[in-house]
Amino acid sequence: MVKICCIGAGYVGGPTMAVIALKCPSIEVAVVDISVPRINAWNSDQLPIYEPGLDGVVKQCRGKNLFFSTDVEKHVREADIVFVSVNTPTKTRGLGAGKAADLTYWESAARMIADVSKSDKIVVDKSTVPVKTAEAIEKILTHNSKGIKFQILSNPEFLAEGTAIQDLFNPDRVLIGGRETPGGNKAVQALKDVYAHWVPEERILTTNLWSAELSKLAANAFLAQRISSVNAMSALCEATGADVTQVSYAVEVAEYWRQVIKINDYQKNRFVNRVVSSMFNTISNKKIAVLGFAFKKDTGDTRETPAIDVCKGLLGDKARLSIYDPQVTEDQIQRDLTMNKFDWDHPLHLQPMSPTTVKQVTCVWDAYEATKDAHGICILTEWDEFKTLDFKKIYDNMQKPAFVFDGRNVVNAEQLREIGFIVYSVGKPLDAWLKDMPAVA
Ligand code: ADP
Repeated sequence: MVKICCIGAGYVGGPTMAVIALKCPSIEVAVVDISVPRINAWNSDQLPIYEPGLDGVVKQCRGKNLFFSTDVEKHVREADIVFVSVNTPTKTRGLGAGKAADLTYWESAARMIADVSKSDKIVVDKSTVPVKTAEAIEKILTHNSKGIKFQILSNPEFLAEGTAIQDLFNPDRVLIGGRETPGGNKAVQALKDVYAHWVPEERILTTNLWSAELSKLAANAFLAQRISSVNAMSALCEATGADVTQVSYAVEVAEYWRQVIKINDYQKNRFVNRVVSSMFNTISNKKIAVLGFAFKKDTGDTRETPAIDVCKGLLGDKARLSIYDPQVTEDQIQRDLTMNKFDWDHPLHLQPMSPTTVKQVTCVWDAYEATKDAHGICILTEWDEFKTLDFKKIYDNMQKPAFVFDGRNVVNAEQLREIGFIVYSVGKPLDAWLKDMPAVA
């Protein structure tokens, strides 16, 4: 029986291993992590991450051929294939801060693998890391190997959070990069055999190590480029009366970005500005309902979510926030709004939670409660349920004039205007009201 161990039970490792276990009943899969609460959650009914379909997959395999454990060394030692899916945050200090990936976790995982291994292993890099990381890891492993042979593969993950299970069930491609040596080829074939349990042969692409690593980075870079273009365009659209949805359709932007406007740094500032300027240049002590906090729909993940900076911006202007997201807890929101970026990227070094919470913030589990008596609503995540809210009821319970600032273009602006709302949708022609209250930036 082939044994797989995955180091890192996060957004990538957890769902990927659950799907491998489901599709390969003959393989034993252990997902290990140094975080005790995270592993406990994986072993409970309340999984640590939310992904549509994930619960069902985990329930089917957990305890059969899928195990979650904090006994990292034991499972690494026993495994034939070790996936490494640890955090690779961007460095926030030192050389390359803000740009280079922080490989601290990767390196310590590699040293641990070399330390505990007693048999040959295939080590698979599953995190988004700079090109040539695999080679660096290979060096760490071989220089510490005590005669054991390691084959390094790069198998970048293309799943998107929110659709991870669907993406894993039916990937448009699986990329496996390895050394072009007999040993390397054999390792590539072994990993190919795992995916071949459910992925059609022609979708499994094999390349050399560097092509695989670079492909993931290139795909990310192209995506980022398209997002910035659409963002730049949305400001132009507002100024000219064009509609970003129509324009991006005409220039063939990828489907997802056509539907959902991604809020980047530039958009975040514009958005907060728009809120403040529309509401007579002051939001001090006004209640603002924030609908959605996760970085996208169908996930509870708030890393990199624009909601953090938008909320901080609104709080900076002394608004009172009432936040509702179907999957994000109050604890998480309070932590996000109080913690700085460095703590975030290094969750393992986290101090005990500070007792100070943001007093201007309340979190509720209901959109109607969040919007009650509010002056304005900011929609920051494109959850489907926001489309079907009873906006007439919401309007009746709000202060007037009642504003909706739709950061993701999820609501039907025309219908809301008929109810009486003043509506701002990113990249769409402006209401007369908003034209009269020009944003500062
Ligand atoms: P991703 O989104 O790439 O899956 P996450 O941050 O969600 O990243 O998950 C990475 C996980 O890796 C975290 O749960 C962290 O505790 C774990 N981790 C980091 N370093 C190690 C290590 N050396 N051994 C075991 N687990 C680790």
